[in-house]
Formats: sequence, C-alpha cells, structure tokens
Amino acid sequence: MTQVFLASRNVKKLEEMRRILTASLSADRRDVAGAAGTAIEVLGLDDVAAYDEPVEDEPTFAGNALLKARAALAATGLPSVADDSGLCVDALNGMPGVLSARWSGGPRDDRRALDRGNNELLLQQLSDVPDGRRGAHFASAVAFCAPAEPAGQPLELVVEDRMTGRVTRETRGSGGFGYDVLFCADEFPDRTTAELDPAQKDAISHRGRALRRIAPQIVAALTR
Ligand code: IMP
Repeated sequence: MTQVFLASRNVKKLEEMRRILTASLSADRRDVAGAAGTAIEVLGLDDVAAYDEPVEDEPTFAGNALLKARAALAATGLPSVADDSGLCVDALNGMPGVLSARWSGGPRDDRRALDRGNNELLLQQLSDVPDGRRGAHFASAVAFCAPAEPAGQPLELVVEDRMTGRVTRETRGSGGFGYDVLFCADEFPDRTTAELDPAQKDAISHRGRALRRIAPQIVAALTR
C-alpha cells in the first residue's frame, strides 16, 4: 500500500483534508495507474512518531505550507502534504491572513476557545463596516514534498486556491471550524460555510480546490 502523510495538528482540518485527498486520490489513481481499488493510505500526525514541528514564521501561505511539508518529509521519510490557510478580509487589508489561527492571541491548546476568541475579535473589528464592504476570501496553499529518487532532488510542489465570499454580522452554524461560522461563500450567500454539508463545503472550499488540483501530481509521484 502506498502511503502519504498529511501534516496537521488541527483535527477538523485534518478530517477535511483526509476526506478530500482520499476521494481525489482514488479517482486520480484510477486514471493514472489504471488500477481501480489500489488504495493510497492517508496518514495523520497520530500515525507517526512525534517530531518537532516548525515555527510557521513565513510571510506567505505558500512559504508556511512548504516549511510544514519539508519538516514532515524530513521527520518521517514519507511523501508529505501540508496546508497553510487563513481568512483574508478586504476591509482589513487582507488580515488576519497568515495570522488567522491565533488572531486574538488566545490559548493554543483549546481550539474551541481560540476559534471563539478569533471570531469575537473579527466581529468587533468589522462592526462599523457596512454590508457592501464585508468581502473576504479564504486562501489555502497546499505543499507536497516527496523523497528524492536515487541521486535526485526531493520533489517540491505548492498549489494555492481560494474561496471568495463575505463576513456575516453574527455567527451561524455548527459544522466546519475556525471562521466558518462567520463566512458566506459566493456560491451559498445565505448560509455560512458552517451551515453547509461537508461535501458542499469541500466542493467550493479553498482547501478542496487546491487539494484536487495537486492530487494528480501526488498520484503521479507516488506511482512513478
Ligand atoms: P493554519 O493551521 O496556520 O493553516 O491555520 C489556519 C487558520 O485559518 C485556522 O486555524 C482557522 O482559524 C482559519 N481557517 C483556515 N481554513 C479555514 C476554513 O476552512 N474554515 C474556517 N477557518 C479556516
């Protein structure tokens, strides 16, 4: 069985990435290898020995995603995928952007409290911003690093994508994670992404789009 490692500590994000990648890897594997049913196993952080994760100090999503995927490959030796993502709000000049995860400075070890604090702060910052100027997008950079072929260079790829929409005036919904309770995508203007079915969110999300675009290249690397 071919294995690929998904480097994330965020359980909800990992769940989404595993779902999207598994679906698109099995579809692409049929195309590339003509081998329907030959599984590619997607491993998470709980399936590998603990290692020191890098500090995400790059100014771009792509830079941070690469940091994470490189560290994952170095620690596990496995072909590794990592995502760096965030919410970019027009009225805040693209912030919180790469700082999305800890925008309110809340506790790292209590993700629900952290998400709540981030959402409260964002609502406060946008309280005077009228409906017509509440545009925003989620961005995701997905990096893939694979071991070098004998005497070759390690393979490194990064794909970025986005989901555009707007920030609501109150939190709604219980699905997803992070800022989902405050964001309506253009495709579903009356429902936050926390009110969508997982499959609906995957079909339009920044992460879904980026992962589906990089999947054929991952399959090609795993089956070379
Ligand atoms: P990362 O682990 O540094 O990539 O953190 C990304 C942060 O951006 C998350 O902790 C969330 O706050 C936010 N974020 C990224 N993607 C999403 C999403 O799909 N829904 C809601 N929030 C998201």
